[in-house]
Amino acid sequence: MSKINLHDYVATVENYPEPGVSFRDISPLMGNGEAYKQAIDEIVDFAKDLKVDLIAGPESRGFIVGSPLAYAMDIGFVPARKSGKLPRKALSASYTLEYGGVNELEIHEDAIQPGQRVLIVDDLLATGGTINATRKIVEELGGVVAGVAFIIELEDLHGREKIMEAGEVPFVALMEY
Ligand code: IMP
Repeated sequence: MSKINLHDYVATVENYPEPGVSFRDISPLMGNGEAYKQAIDEIVDFAKDLKVDLIAGPESRGFIVGSPLAYAMDIGFVPARKSGKLPRKALSASYTLEYGGVNELEIHEDAIQPGQRVLIVDDLLATGGTINATRKIVEELGGVVAGVAFIIELEDLHGREKIMEAGEVPFVALMEY
């Protein structure tokens, strides 16, 4: 099957959620079977030599990328949930949001075993706060970050540099804006 242009499945919403912001919405990509499958397949291809044991992704769009990826790779998925949602003992990390405010993510303490290689994924990389908070918990639990993967990277916000400041890791973003 011929490759499709994933950019055709990203909707740009100007002045959302606040004036001056161009919001990139991947709902059309998720809503199209061919585009969704191609995006996941491209990340599987990126990950094929990284010896990944587990996928981790932040609530909530990280679940939409991470779950099909885990299924395709025959490995497990670990959700990094917003605070107060997990029923058992969890480790947390807080971070500041792109449009202001503070958020907290949590992962169950027994979700990752020391030494396991974890691929961290999300739909979009902006400032890097979300992914670095996820990474902090993964590493505190003894996980090794095998790589990070996104469908979209917003280059002007320099999230990639923030990730690499915390330690160089294999990186992929399927589209850059
Ligand atoms: P960061 O923490 O600043 O890197 O922001 C990334 C997080 O915010 C991701 O979980 C995204 O789902 C969400 N996000 C930020 N900007 C956008 C956008 O333009 N479109 C879709 N999601 C966004």
